[in-house]
Amino acid sequence: MRLYIHVPFCRKKCAYCAFYSVPLAAGGAGADMLQGYLRTLLAEISLWGERLPGRRAESLFFGGGTPSLLPVRAIAAILEAIDKRFPLVSGAEITAEANPESALADGWLFGVKGAGINRLSLGVQSFSDADLLRLGRAHDAHAAEAAFLTAKAAGFGNISLDLMWGLPRAPLRPQSQVRWLEQLHRLAELRPEHVSAYGLTLEEGSALEAACARGEYSLPEESAAASMYVTGGEFLESRGYMQYEISNYARIGFECRHNLGYWQGEDYLGFGPSATSTLAGRRWSNPADPALWRESVRSRSAGNDAEILSAGDQVKELLMLRLRMSKGLCLGEYQALSGRAFHADFGALAGLLQQKGLAASREGHFRLTRSGMLLSDAVLAHFFTALP
Ligand code: SF4
Repeated sequence: MRLYIHVPFCRKKCAYCAFYSVPLAAGGAGADMLQGYLRTLLAEISLWGERLPGRRAESLFFGGGTPSLLPVRAIAAILEAIDKRFPLVSGAEITAEANPESALADGWLFGVKGAGINRLSLGVQSFSDADLLRLGRAHDAHAAEAAFLTAKAAGFGNISLDLMWGLPRAPLRPQSQVRWLEQLHRLAELRPEHVSAYGLTLEEGSALEAACARGEYSLPEESAAASMYVTGGEFLESRGYMQYEISNYARIGFECRHNLGYWQGEDYLGFGPSATSTLAGRRWSNPADPALWRESVRSRSAGNDAEILSAGDQVKELLMLRLRMSKGLCLGEYQALSGRAFHADFGALAGLLQQKGLAASREGHFRLTRSGMLLSDAVLAHFFTALP
């Protein structure tokens, strides 16, 4: 089983972000918020430990929000509670997402490494100060590199860096392919074990969407963004990073095991406000509102409103998750779940996609090529329409 801890706090909202997060107050008020969160989180872990005795965890992931705003002693307390209720298997992957500025504060990186975190996912997004300013990030390029080097010095041997492509710039001068490749060169010099490269999307209601609507910035045209994705992937592969998912690349043996678990349809249990869980075909999400989340834990009603995934939902999810991955969909797995042969359901569509270079099949698997992954939302919509 995979475990996820959602840390909802951020210092401030980034201009492009639509994730659920709560601004962390400064000083004593912020400390009280963290204390209240920790108390409820530990109670939630105990509650699920009682409900699921004897379950062990293969991986644990602190995501957010900004997990690097959690003091080291809070992370240590959570790790202790998890290990008591869901003993981590030997060699379990334990990841924390971190933002450079908070990761560098108060010896955090050394502290969490000592507490047991063994994989770090650092939200760099760009090595350009001007880009970072437009994205509303709280760090600059110097802090991003310093956080990476400090993490190395603290003993982290498995570090992922997040970068974004397709960034806005001055009107009619959006990020070019050349500028994107410069970013990747800079990243490759640092030699992290893992890279997540996400295309920027304009989220409804975000500050960046409003700024673009006012004409302050413009984003790259679709064809320019597409070539950034393809050439970026080729560059990363030339530097030894193999693509294993739409936006994820790793040196051999450093794929994120936790996320692979999600994409392979394994059970996962999420703690914290807005965290989602899926256990044995039942799925639920915690309330996003901290007060409602606290009440659901206090009243022990967490998870009571789970939906049962229908057979049709499970087939759709199988297609959606496996086609994200470079390995693709195992045709035998599709037949076992749906009771039908993949080619009987999708022969014409699969043939067309292969003809256009958007998909390929090999050794009993059907997969999207890099060009197909770029269009994965549209491709999936066609699969769902063709589904009997
Ligand atoms: S740090 Fe992450 S979660 Fe927080 S506002 Fe920025 S992008 Fe969103």
